[in-house]
Amino acid sequence: MIDAYIALGSNLGDSRSLLSSALAAMDQLPATRLVDRSPTYRSRAVGPGTQRDYLNLVARLETGLTASELLAQLQSIEANHGRERSEHWGPRTLDLDILLYGNATISTDELTVPHPRMAERNFVLYPLSDLAADLVLPCGTPLQRWRGTCSNAGLEALGDSIEPGR
Ligand code: ATP
Ligand code: CA
Ligand code: CA
Repeated sequence: MIDAYIALGSNLGDSRSLLSSALAAMDQLPATRLVDRSPTYRSRAVGPGTQRDYLNLVARLETGLTASELLAQLQSIEANHGRERSEHWGPRTLDLDILLYGNATISTDELTVPHPRMAERNFVLYPLSDLAADLVLPCGTPLQRWRGTCSNAGLEALGDSIEPGR
């Protein structure tokens, strides 16, 4: 079994209930268990136009799926939660990104792991660090080194965590 960390985000629709349902759906994937989830954060949207703030969190899964199987499963969960692929970085009901898949470094047309933009994203680094403060990235860098140089501008810890629900 592999420990995988998934970033969840939503800035369209009923984000809390979408995230809650996405946590449950990940727990129900074949050969996969939801082990833990971070507290919830609110972050300012990056992307075109004026968009609502995001709700973000990070989940830790234990999985027997390959990384590419996991990506396909996460994309089908996104689709089941009303995700439409339209504008790049536009508003979305649900975004599920694979941050880390064990200690693997993956670079294919469909999948790059560790997630290539995680080092500069406070809405990823802060919740990930809540879950796994001592994590060392596949490149050998301690997570805390990235987090320490990443401003928390535009990020608010809401101080709660979302329960997996239907
Ligand atoms: P960003 O990757 O900057 O967070 P995004 O989440 O808005 O942007 P999407 O439109 O959701 O991007 O995904 C575009 C493609 O990214 C997906 O079809 C998928 O093949 C690819 N991809 C590459 N690496 C990953 C990863 N680690 N996790 C999820 N998708 C990935
Ligand atoms: Ca994303
Ligand atoms: Ca994505």
